[in-house]
Amino acid sequence: MQRNSYRIVSYKVRHDYDISEFLSSYRYLLQRAIDIIWDSIEWKKKRNRLIPIIPKSKEFKRTLRNQLLKDWNYASHYVDSAIKTAYSILSSWRRNYIKGKRGRNKPVVKRKFVRVKETLYRFRDEKIVITIRPRQLYLEFDLSKAWFRKRVEGCDLGELILKENELIITFRKPVNYTPKKKIAWDLNLLSMDGFCDRGWIRVNLKPLYTLHITYENKRRKIQSLSKTKPKTAKRLMQKYSQRYRNRVKDFLHKLTTKLAKEFKDYEHGFENLEKQGMFGKCKIHNRVVSKQNWKQIIALMSYKANVKLLDPRNSTKICSRCGGRMKHRKGQVLECIKCRLIINRQLNASINLYLRMKDMKPCLNSWKYVKRLLDRGGVTWLEVT
Ligand SMILES: [Zn+2]
Repeated sequence: MQRNSYRIVSYKVRHDYDISEFLSSYRYLLQRAIDIIWDSIEWKKKRNRLIPIIPKSKEFKRTLRNQLLKDWNYASHYVDSAIKTAYSILSSWRRNYIKGKRGRNKPVVKRKFVRVKETLYRFRDEKIVITIRPRQLYLEFDLSKAWFRKRVEGCDLGELILKENELIITFRKPVNYTPKKKIAWDLNLLSMDGFCDRGWIRVNLKPLYTLHITYENKRRKIQSLSKTKPKTAKRLMQKYSQRYRNRVKDFLHKLTTKLAKEFKDYEHGFENLEKQGMFGKCKIHNRVVSKQNWKQIIALMSYKANVKLLDPRNSTKICSRCGGRMKHRKGQVLECIKCRLIINRQLNASINLYLRMKDMKPCLNSWKYVKRLLDRGGVTWLEVT
């Protein structure tokens, strides 16, 4: 789950190969791919506007590929690369069209370039060899004397971009950077509770909870219908499940984007689900809050921010001031058997996780530090909108 952070760096190498014919053919190929997809776009009316639907079925792509392969004289992998590029050009045109930034004009490829996927070149003995026509035409680039050699030692080679007089080489450079600031998150039924140098952060999860409840109710109603009208029930079920999944996905996307923005330079700590104990008996408050959502949140966050997985053991059971055992009081409140600390259950858990991130143990010294952060920051509620 933990992301290996990396940065893309690129370098240019000049060359004298005469490849203008190949580049022209490729540009023509890419334009044809765009033309064919463009002609198959369906325009659907939606709220008094025509919205383009780009054909994406397997069958369509297969026919497209065969059509393009017919008069292509170079390695067939370039056809796949052209199709991929055509789709990304058209999707970006579509996004801008919907936003009103672009008109209903077909994109035209002007520049001569080829994106060379990893399947079309090999890298051995410090040489990049690009296949243009299998067993007939290869281009070789010697990097053993390249000025950037030292800088990219140990990096993975990425995509290449071939142009008339130069080759652009991209590398994935691993980044070993962990932010100093930390925030630890505890998931609950109606809120997500974080603790950091800004105090207690509470994210309102009621909208997500409402989605689950509403769907559960709908599902039950549809199920009772299935005895009398099985076909209608099946159709309704599919419709609602799809809508429900989309809404949950939408909420989780907004939530994680918000957290990544709000706590930009932070490392985000989450309980490791693979470790036993989490979502054990005492953590299941309600069956509608699924382990799945927590997993999705962690997965999305690891794309948008630095994520660290934490050992979840006892985070809710021990006192964040002295490490003693907690007992339940009324509602969401816990009391320590040893030091008599009375504290909100979620806050206690997120402080314990925060201390774990900081490699600290609950003791009077760490409590002084925690108390200072808490007094300074207080409680902040965040809404996902
Ligand atoms: Zn205590």
